[in-house]
Amino acid sequence: MEQVRPLTAHGAVATYIPALAAVSSRHLGLAVWAAGHDGGAATAGPGEVIGAGDADTAFSIQSISKVFTLALALRHGGVDRLWARVGREPSGDPFNSIALLEREQGVPRNPFINAGAIVVADLLSALRPDPVGDLVAFVSELTGEAVAVDPVVAASEAATGFRNRALANMIRSFGNLDNDVEAVLDVYFRQCSLAMTARQLARALRFLANDGVDPATGAAVLRPAEARHVNALMLMAGTYDAAGAFAYEIGIPCKSGVGGGIVGVVPDRATVCAWSPALDTTGNSLAARAALAALAARTGLTVF
Ligand code: GLU
Repeated sequence: MEQVRPLTAHGAVATYIPALAAVSSRHLGLAVWAAGHDGGAATAGPGEVIGAGDADTAFSIQSISKVFTLALALRHGGVDRLWARVGREPSGDPFNSIALLEREQGVPRNPFINAGAIVVADLLSALRPDPVGDLVAFVSELTGEAVAVDPVVAASEAATGFRNRALANMIRSFGNLDNDVEAVLDVYFRQCSLAMTARQLARALRFLANDGVDPATGAAVLRPAEARHVNALMLMAGTYDAAGAFAYEIGIPCKSGVGGGIVGVVPDRATVCAWSPALDTTGNSLAARAALAALAARTGLTVF
């Protein structure tokens, strides 16, 4: 943490969502959950996560929410419908690219770019009567404590989400959106506005490091193969068009959000979350990215 703290002076906080522009760029938090060598039991007891710095300050999880909505769609049996409507390839384009979506006839390249997450939100809206309520309950259960949508951030996104509206309308024009555009965007904006701490995120993702089973409760959240699929997608597409650099520099399946959080999953070994609001030009937190690279380098916590 102290090694990367100087980097908090660099980069820029996301301003295209006005509520995010108000967050201080100097925050830096790190949280790690380590699995025991028996492949599941936490070293310090299930649920215990080691935190440093601002590990207990809530921030807007933004695109990290796409991991949870994907898991929820898989959990509710949307798998065949999902993969008929969303691809599983890295995009190599910015997360909110309209050009890519038009070239690919309204079928988003993967569930972690905005267009793909909007299709997942549409699918969840078809599968569940209250998708956001389900999401909040799901993430709260994984976290072991109540988490909530920040209504100020959600309103700010809804007021300024012109590009996401363009994406949703484009998907709709290709016949790949079943529900009303505004209703789907309402789900999408609220999922992105979930407020969580780094410690809570490291805890909530343990099931992905544990073959789909939540080590705190023993509950099967996803099937082992599904957990592997989510991790594979995170490695290939979890950090916008910097996913190749992340695999090279850090070597951990990661998912980032424009609120400055980055989560990582090392199967059978650990989950991590680093948070610092200022972003680099690829939309990933500058200091959080460096923190994860330093952590991986010092501990050998990588998948390679
Ligand atoms: N709510 C943000 C958007 O739609 C999420 C982007 C992100 O975190 O990558 O632009």
